[in-house]
Amino acid sequence: RKITIAIDGYSSTGKSTIAKQLAKALGYIYVDTGAMYRAVTLFAMRSEFIGTESSNIEALVKLLPKINLKFVYNETVGFAEMYLNNENVEKEIRTLEVSRNVSQIATIEEVRYKLVEMQKKMGQEKGIVMDGRDIGTVVFPEAELKLFMTASAEKRATRRYKELLDKGDDVTFEEVLKNVEQRDYIDSHREFSPLKLADDAIEFDNSDMGLEEQFERILGYAQR
Ligand code: C5P
Repeated sequence: RKITIAIDGYSSTGKSTIAKQLAKALGYIYVDTGAMYRAVTLFAMRSEFIGTESSNIEALVKLLPKINLKFVYNETVGFAEMYLNNENVEKEIRTLEVSRNVSQIATIEEVRYKLVEMQKKMGQEKGIVMDGRDIGTVVFPEAELKLFMTASAEKRATRRYKELLDKGDDVTFEEVLKNVEQRDYIDSHREFSPLKLADDAIEFDNSDMGLEEQFERILGYAQR
């Protein structure tokens, strides 16, 4: 019996790493919803719509129908990559620059509506692992398994910092920590579908847990 697995939680808690492994082990589809918010943000940055002035938000909302998002599976890397208007933006959406703007864009009701509709459609078939901030609360409230990942901000920033350095990004630990804390704050305090624990979610603190142990435990929940 295939199920729907919703993985939510704070920034850089390793949601996508676990979700990818889980999808692979179970033969499920994996969807990274953060990539979708990041792609819309990249579009806004390129169009110079970034900023908190309402006129900019209005301009972006008007252009939403022109933003075409799709995931294309890449066999070599083993997961689906994000395409924005037919351009592979997988690398560009992961920069600290995009991370700095994404949570603001994710507060816009119309943006969330568009992306949540797409996500619900993707979940019509069972056998899906989706990660994000509102998957267990808004996208799939009926999901059979819901996880809520947490870890100390220091631990999360350390992980993200290493990742960015490995990619050759020129960032400091302080910048990354600040970004992680800022995103958590905006994500948990926004008006529309803020990040919060679903009533029936399992809270999972992985501050002091290796990947293997996390994976074993979560696979156990999925097979229960
Ligand atoms: O998962 P990731 O860190 O790539 O997500 C980037 C940002 O996108 C989050 O900080 C949040 O602002 C937004 N997001 C969201 N809802 C989701 C997924 C991501 O608001 N389901």
